[in-house]
Amino acid sequence: MSTAPDFDVVIAGGGMVGASLACALAQFCRVAVVESFPLNASAAAAPVYRPSFDARSTALSLSSVAFLEGIGLWSAVTRHAEPIRHIHVSDQGRFGSTRMDAADEGLEALGYIVENHWLGAVLHGALRERPNLRLIAPASVEAVTAVDGGAQLRLRVGDETRSLHAGLAVIADGARSALAARLGIDSEERNYGQTAVIANIAHAAPHAGRAFERFCDSGPLAMLPLTRAEDGRSRSALVWVKETADAAEILALDERAFLRRLQPTFGYRLGRLLAAGNRASYSLALVQAAEQVRAGIVVLGNAAHTLHPVAGQGFNLSLRDVAALVGVLRTAHTSGERPGDLRTLQAYADSRQADHSRTIGFSDWLPRIFGSGMLPVAAARGMGLVSLELLPAARSLLVRKATGLGL
Ligand SMILES: Cc1cc2nc3c(=O)[nH]c(=O)nc-3n(C[C@H](O)[C@H](O)[C@H](O)COP(=O)(O)OP(=O)(O)OC[C@H]3O[C@@H](n4cnc5c(N)ncnc54)[C@H](O)[C@@H]3O)c2cc1C
Repeated sequence: MSTAPDFDVVIAGGGMVGASLACALAQFCRVAVVESFPLNASAAAAPVYRPSFDARSTALSLSSVAFLEGIGLWSAVTRHAEPIRHIHVSDQGRFGSTRMDAADEGLEALGYIVENHWLGAVLHGALRERPNLRLIAPASVEAVTAVDGGAQLRLRVGDETRSLHAGLAVIADGARSALAARLGIDSEERNYGQTAVIANIAHAAPHAGRAFERFCDSGPLAMLPLTRAEDGRSRSALVWVKETADAAEILALDERAFLRRLQPTFGYRLGRLLAAGNRASYSLALVQAAEQVRAGIVVLGNAAHTLHPVAGQGFNLSLRDVAALVGVLRTAHTSGERPGDLRTLQAYADSRQADHSRTIGFSDWLPRIFGSGMLPVAAARGMGLVSLELLPAARSLLVRKATGLGL
């Protein structure tokens, strides 16, 4: 196809990853985002923040914070983000535990926790406001086809079918990507047989910036510090990973029975657990697309790799992908090259390989070693936590990995 593309880049999916990429690319090229959900509905409204007990949250690494600063959104995100000043890692019923402190590392925070609904409100607000950026929603991308000079996208907008020509199509339609599958891109999937139960929890003692990661034989449990609730109570975001059958059981409990089950598992480091917001669940699998790039096409975010949430790395890894992709596309733009050129895209994919294998390997290894009740494995991980406590250099290394500073 020799006609000029309608947009330099069209992104299928305006979730956290697609929206972040769009905001970064709009600094130097023409971008469209196609999103199935009706984000246009509140076009005139400023993002509204309602601190509730009912939201999923994301731990942002310091590399993600730097990225959001670079696209001018961190000052808005940080208004409702809680800094992590300490991380406490322990093993239920065993002797090993370790602490990591921001101050020991010369850092203000080890990361930040933000509720997804606020992060989404800020990103989607930017999608509506930024010049160079067109949001097409609600609309679904039905098919992506590579063509000479980029890609062709078939869109369903209400009852109509439309076509868009892009210099580059980015597939960011989330886990188990239907669009990638339609292109014949294989994916490898390993089900963990585990489900993450999430809920916001109010507790009697202030969290004081402490994030807790507690490993139990049935799976890990995290309590991550949140901003205070509207009524002033201290809150944390719970991510409780259980075998799928056990998760179904705790999901069915009423609030009081749920808290009675959670309290002895987590302990009293946050005092008495007072209230639990709505619970939601996510079944956990490691999914990896076999191809990240083709001429005219990039697969990104959960569509490219869906990780176990134990290490809080999925979105952080994707933002590092986004930063690298924006870097190569900016260089291509400056030198007048097409954004869909395979050499440009392959350079991006090659540059991401080492981080992918490190981060995906780490996120996959943690739940397997810490999800095991087998005595030698459990003893070894207890020893591991003790050695981390005794070896500040090793702990610093782990902190640098967790914060995204050492990648
Ligand atoms: C319990 C849990 C906790 C987590 N905690 C963390 C954490 O602390 N830190 C971290 O870094 N990561 C975390 N993650 C991972 C993180 O949530 C994901 O990496 C992130 O949500 C991926 O975003 P995405 O934009 O790729 O996909 P999605 O958020 O799924 O977005 C995909 C978008 O595409 C749209 N869409 C789908 N099909 C089409 C179509 N055909 N046309 C148009 N639009 C379409 C959808 O409507 C959606 O908006 C966690 C995950 C879970 C499950």
